[in-house]
Amino acid sequence: MEGCLFCQIANKKLKSEYVYEDEKVIAFKDVDPQAPVHILIIPKTHYSSILDVADEEMGIISHIHKVAKKIAKDMGVDEKGFRLINNCGEEGGQSVPHLHFHLLGGRLLGWPPG
Ligand code: IMP
Repeated sequence: MEGCLFCQIANKKLKSEYVYEDEKVIAFKDVDPQAPVHILIIPKTHYSSILDVADEEMGIISHIHKVAKKIAKDMGVDEKGFRLINNCGEEGGQSVPHLHFHLLGGRLLGWPPG
C-alpha cells in the first residue's frame, strides 16, 4: 500500500536487515530492538492489523508462526524460549498499521507486559 512503511520494507524500496523471505512473508530486524533477538515478521500483502485478515485468509497467520519457529531455531533462541507478539490497535500498542509479529528472545522476558 502506498505510503505504508512496512510495504516499502517488503518491496525493498526501503532497505532493512532482512533475515528471511518467501513468497508470502518477509522478516527483518527491528530498528529499536527490545531484546538481543528482535525480529519483525510481516505478510507481503498489506493488512492494517489482524482485524483486517478475513477468516478464509487466516492461513497467513499459521504460515507466520511456521516461519517464526524456523527463525527462532536459526537465531538460536528455540531452546531457552522466545515470545511471539502481535500488537493490535491503539491500546494494544500497535504503532505501525501493517500487520506484524514481533519475535523476541535472547533474554528473560518479563510478564505481564507494560
Ligand atoms: P508495533 O508498536 O507493535 O506496531 O511495532 C512496530 C515496530 O516497528 C517497533 O518495534 C519499531 O521499533 C519497529 N520499526 C519502526 N520502523 C522501523 C523500520 O524502519 N525498520 C525496522 N523496524 C521498524
